[in-house]
Amino acid sequence: MKKLDIKLGYTCNNLCKFCIQGNKRDLKDSQTTSEVKKTLLENSFNFKEVVFTGGEVTIRNDIFELVKFAKECGYKTIRIQTNGRIFSYFDFCQKIIDAGANEFMPSIHGSTPEIHDGLTRAVGSFEQTLQGILNLKKLQQGVFINTVVTRINYKDMPNIAKMLSDIKVNSYQFAFMHINSSIQKDIKLVEEIVPRYKEIKPFVEEGLQIGIDANVKSKAEAFPFCTLNEKYHAHISENYMPNVFIYEDKKLSNFNQMKKDGAKLKGERCRECKFFERCEGPWSDYPRIFGFNEFKPIK
Ligand code: SF4
Repeated sequence: MKKLDIKLGYTCNNLCKFCIQGNKRDLKDSQTTSEVKKTLLENSFNFKEVVFTGGEVTIRNDIFELVKFAKECGYKTIRIQTNGRIFSYFDFCQKIIDAGANEFMPSIHGSTPEIHDGLTRAVGSFEQTLQGILNLKKLQQGVFINTVVTRINYKDMPNIAKMLSDIKVNSYQFAFMHINSSIQKDIKLVEEIVPRYKEIKPFVEEGLQIGIDANVKSKAEAFPFCTLNEKYHAHISENYMPNVFIYEDKKLSNFNQMKKDGAKLKGERCRECKFFERCEGPWSDYPRIFGFNEFKPIK
């Protein structure tokens, strides 16, 4: 299974402390409407699934036009990765569904405004995102939630899981945060927001279990096998990821290859682990800062 991921640009109406795009957010939109259309058309023979990512793609004026064009090109799955805020407007939901979008991946990072808005640094974003998720479910859409796990919200994972399970989202995923270069430069920020695998484990596992008990698919991304009990290994997202190709900076890159080429890293001792071949290891920034001691080979 292959998926085309088009990065439309980096501007956003949130200002998340953990944003993977870091300093890129100050750049102007990386692709014009006609450039995106050209990319969609050229790749429509090789891909049947496309995801629009950013930045926040829904603040572009041409988003309906792009979704409609993707549909005309024959893409069967058109996914919107989003902070979810604009979906609090029911009319917007209806309009983008009518244009052809049929999967949605909103991000929510807390079960309360204090936690979520504290991370997004956007007052009112929690209420909007939650309402957006409810609207999409009301419209019977596929809703696949992403939650970034940080030092600030990790204890909230069970509450988030309960909230999302009650809504009956299609799935939710706890994603271990990236420690991008702009975060790494700020030691105080690293101390404030970067969690350690060993401390978050019980909260993530409890959150996964809540989904299991409620019959809602729960997943964990960027969690190597040794960071979770065996019972939850089947919930590791990488087991099921499609082969993603990212279109950014005017070129197409194989995301799986990028991870093998250094975006993720395994330690020397990993060779002794029975999961060595299957495991991708953590994002490479983590062991560069904290070392590999936490990653103990499973025999
Ligand atoms: S010890 Fe290494 S290979 Fe084994 S699960 Fe952990 S990170 Fe992956």
